[in-house]
Amino acid sequence: MEPKQYGIGDVVEMKKPHPCGTNAWKIIRLGADIRIKCTGCQHSVMIPRRDFEKKMKKMLERAEAGE
Ligand SMILES: [Zn+2]
Repeated sequence: MEPKQYGIGDVVEMKKPHPCGTNAWKIIRLGADIRIKCTGCQHSVMIPRRDFEKKMKKMLERAEAGE
């Protein structure tokens, strides 16, 4: 098992899609809590890092260096 690695700008899929029907979330803030933004409706939520790692299903898109 590879460790889950993620950073700002990465787009991830969560176990539960957002009610708007989109299941692609962009990471916009990293800390003890992580803020992710729904790429469909731009709604953002803040969740504890531990929850994020539990709820994240897979990485959809890696942000390349240089953002
Ligand atoms: Zn949404």
